[in-house]
Amino acid sequence: MTLRTIETLGDLAGTTVLLRCDLNVPLDGDRITDDGRVRASIPTIRKLRDAGASVVVMSHLGRPEGAPDPKYSLAPVATRLAELLGEPVAFAPLDVARSELSDGVTLLENLRFDPREASKEAGERAAFAAELAAKGDVVVSDGFGVVHREQASVYELAQALPSAAGLLIAAELDVLDRLTATPAKPYTVVLGGSKVSDKLGVIDALLPKVDRLLIGGGMLFTFLAAQGHRIGKSLLEESQFDTVKRYLAEAQERGVELVLPTDIVMASTFSPEAEHTVVPADRLEDAFGPEGIGLDIGPETAATFAAHIRASKTVFWNGPMGVFEFPAFAEGTRAVAQALTEVDGLGVVGGGDSAAAVRALGFADDAFGHISTGGGASLEFLEGTTLPGLEVLGWQTP
Ligand code: ADP
Ligand code: MG
Repeated sequence: MTLRTIETLGDLAGTTVLLRCDLNVPLDGDRITDDGRVRASIPTIRKLRDAGASVVVMSHLGRPEGAPDPKYSLAPVATRLAELLGEPVAFAPLDVARSELSDGVTLLENLRFDPREASKEAGERAAFAAELAAKGDVVVSDGFGVVHREQASVYELAQALPSAAGLLIAAELDVLDRLTATPAKPYTVVLGGSKVSDKLGVIDALLPKVDRLLIGGGMLFTFLAAQGHRIGKSLLEESQFDTVKRYLAEAQERGVELVLPTDIVMASTFSPEAEHTVVPADRLEDAFGPEGIGLDIGPETAATFAAHIRASKTVFWNGPMGVFEFPAFAEGTRAVAQALTEVDGLGVVGGGDSAAAVRALGFADDAFGHISTGGGASLEFLEGTTLPGLEVLGWQTP
């Protein structure tokens, strides 16, 4: 549990710090629709600047295919970072030489424009990390959202130079530790979102720890389908049927309440203007036949979930309950967020889209116990997985 802090790097005056952040923000064209991750990176950058260091900020954005793609440029983030920092931020290509870097703050272009960043070959990643390492003196790792990834800038880079964890990672771990060590009971976990197979895995690990598991979002349809219900064109991962059935049985054995929706908002198509109607969870095709698509939990489910959340002392929520990006399908997510602000205990929101959702719906950050910047990372942490990006910073999984 001994995460190396920035202090362990010694006097930073006059040095160049390579700072891995997670600035993977949602974009609409070149407009940042939620700048939470940019804001979350500010305290560490300020601390390094106050210590007299120049800072080369690095991040990925989206999933470009290992080649430059203007759609995934970090340029809009450089602009926002400069506004929030109140000092200029230079924007540089990945192959910028150290001698070309100006003093102050520089943001490098999207790390994933280089295929070696996320390569499966350790040698390729190490080569890319060495090129990055040549641009600075020490590494500070603060991209909490990517610590579960064995990627060049997260894993190999932290071993190529003296390295330490930034303030964001430290703060995130502090909260997650409180969720794992001795969470106050009842402990409820709410899961939603779209990455079905990503999240089915963590249910395994959470079942022995929680009192209640509430399932919403796109993944709920795999559960309903596994129970034999028709789900129209809703999100489905058929390969997970057996796993899902096992979870349902295991929850029962362990006395964990696994709560599935009882009603769903079905839409005629995947569109913000789609016709939509609420139907019982076992009669989804009553609405638009086999063409219908489930885009939100229904009002009855939202009320049930909200009541469970409010009655808990510890709540962790990851994944929107519906397609909140379309206002007609945001009510389930709103109800869960509202209930989380009313928890008498610790209420944590985890996940990029979940955090964006609560802000888009008008909730203030401080209405929650904590808003984590990392979805997958926080889930894997709760699962007890050893996270490569933390291990290289001295963290040992208890
Ligand atoms: P997070 O980033 O918080 O971990 P995910 O990335 O797993 O969350 O999922 C977020 C996405 O899930 C949102 O873009 C939302 O539109 C989508 N989603 C939620 N419910 C559904 C649904 N019923 N059908 C399709 N997509 C959904
Ligand atoms: Mg997401």
